[in-house]
Amino acid sequence: MADMADALAKAGLISQQKADKVERDKQKAAAEEKKNQRTSGQQLPMPERKIPTSPEYAKIEEMWNNSKSKGFVKHLIWSFVPHSKVDKIWEDEGKYEKKCCICHTGTMSINESVKCVGEDAGKSLLKRCEFELQNQDRKDDAEYKKEYETFMKEMGKEMFGGKLLALHGEDSKKVFCFVCYDMFYAWLMERVLKGDNEIQHMMTRLRTGTKPKKRQ
Ligand SMILES: [Zn+2]
Repeated sequence: MADMADALAKAGLISQQKADKVERDKQKAAAEEKKNQRTSGQQLPMPERKIPTSPEYAKIEEMWNNSKSKGFVKHLIWSFVPHSKVDKIWEDEGKYEKKCCICHTGTMSINESVKCVGEDAGKSLLKRCEFELQNQDRKDDAEYKKEYETFMKEMGKEMFGGKLLALHGEDSKKVFCFVCYDMFYAWLMERVLKGDNEIQHMMTRLRTGTKPKKRQ
């Protein structure tokens, strides 16, 4: 625009004074826009994110919104946040519950899973090879990817009797299955990003080491 005004001024079509004013106005408008962006930035709504829609995620959200189960979710946050408090259960010493605290699926230790794999390894490997060979031409097919996922899940059920690997936290008998643990963290992150006051407060207490001594 300024270049255009300059060109018009040079051509004698508008005065240089007018061209200068056009340029000044343009700079003023740009500065104003920048200022507005800066000051209103905090009030801008968060960009839309893809929120997980799994039943596990929905259940955690539901538990948080229910005054009767909110305390339990808080207990999970104290015990399972941050990641450094969490580990797989290597050997079942009877210290932890045997069902996931969210989906109630049966859980197992690493040791138990190794035993199951050991017993059925040859059989299941053969089955998997057969399935993959039969579908060799469909490798990049989206439909096949879904079928493969279902197949692997079914095989997991067959091998581990429907049990999933368990994760434990600190000072809690509760365990998470891998799926629910992922969803729990996704849910927590979403709450943090939304600026949930209670969660922010808990995060501060976790960071500063001032969490309540007596846990639920
Ligand atoms: Zn679960």
